[in-house]
Amino acid sequence: MPEGDTVWLTARRLHAALGGQSLVRGDLRVPKLATVDLAGRRVLEVVARGKHLMARLEGEVTLHSHLRMDGAWHLYAPGERWRGGAPHQVRAVLETRSRTAVGYRLPVLELLPTAEEATVVGHLGPDLLGPDWDPARALAALAADPARPVGEALLDQRNLAGIGNVYAAELCFLRGVTPWTPFGDVGAPEKLVVLARRLLEANKARPGHVTTGDTRRGRTNWVYGREHQPCLRCGTPVRSARHGRAEQDRVAYWCPRCQRGPGPGPSPAAG
Ligand SMILES: [Zn+2]
Repeated sequence: MPEGDTVWLTARRLHAALGGQSLVRGDLRVPKLATVDLAGRRVLEVVARGKHLMARLEGEVTLHSHLRMDGAWHLYAPGERWRGGAPHQVRAVLETRSRTAVGYRLPVLELLPTAEEATVVGHLGPDLLGPDWDPARALAALAADPARPVGEALLDQRNLAGIGNVYAAELCFLRGVTPWTPFGDVGAPEKLVVLARRLLEANKARPGHVTTGDTRRGRTNWVYGREHQPCLRCGTPVRSARHGRAEQDRVAYWCPRCQRGPGPGPSPAAG
């Protein structure tokens, strides 16, 4: 699941490549949109809203995409070989005279009137990297369900938009709580929200999600992706477990020594 900063950077690169340019080719390779031809339309801007990408086109039309697990947009120069995946994984081709944007494995790709973007992103909480960022509103949304495990609450895009598995794990580590700690038991929760914003801001203009301040390979994160390896702070082996709703395939990582609070335990009943 991409983090909000990855989507923000993707939007910025797509905007730099396509913004203000007219499409000489615009193929959408999903059955519902197979007959749509976007050639001739100018790309006005490409923006991120949480983890959603919005390419606004001339004629009040927005091409909405979401990367989910392994979707990606790649940019190529004319004549350059496409390397983002097999041809059958290509979902969209947006080409100008000088650049070609290719969307691979996009699980969400749809056209909608620009005025109706809220129908697909209106449910999102304040966007950590958006112009609407509002820490008080994010905190109020999180605090509204004090029994909910903090790891799950941070991943819920209705509370605040932009956090994926990496930042959820790292934020819990940095605040010294396990992902299963009820949100109401997290000390100084306002600091969690401020820190979330700071981490995404610090990483938005570069690939990767550095939370340790150390960009060396294997040192960029405290606990994320480091199960069985020594905690970078105390040396205790980092643990991992699934959390949240099973179908979302969330994996939590934590240091049992640096982080206080409940462990994964048996799954609570649904509902
Ligand atoms: Zn530790």
